[in-house]
Amino acid sequence: MLILTCPCCGVTGEETEFHAGGEAHLKRFGPGSSEDQFEEYLFMRENPKGVHFERWRHVNGCGKWFHAARNTMTLEVYGTYSAQTHTPPQDLRDRISEKVPGWSWREFQ
Ligand SMILES: [Zn+2]
Repeated sequence: MLILTCPCCGVTGEETEFHAGGEAHLKRFGPGSSEDQFEEYLFMRENPKGVHFERWRHVNGCGKWFHAARNTMTLEVYGTYSAQTHTPPQDLRDRISEKVPGWSWREFQ
């Protein structure tokens, strides 16, 4: 069971209080983009064994969306942060790098 803390209202709860919304930090392409870019946006997703960034919604609380960084193998939650960012906060990335040797943030395509 995942234990998440909503960064919007500060409530900590089990994952049943939240709803997963898929991968975070997807790059969206607007009008004029190629079919390959649109296909990538619609269908291509990361499925890592390890550190993953996801979107979550606090459905049984404030109702707001946020991002969570967690490990898909250990289910450890490294942290949650606002969905209004393009990249995870630097302190969270530093914390993950300390716990997962060799990991580093990269821009998603
Ligand atoms: Zn909340």
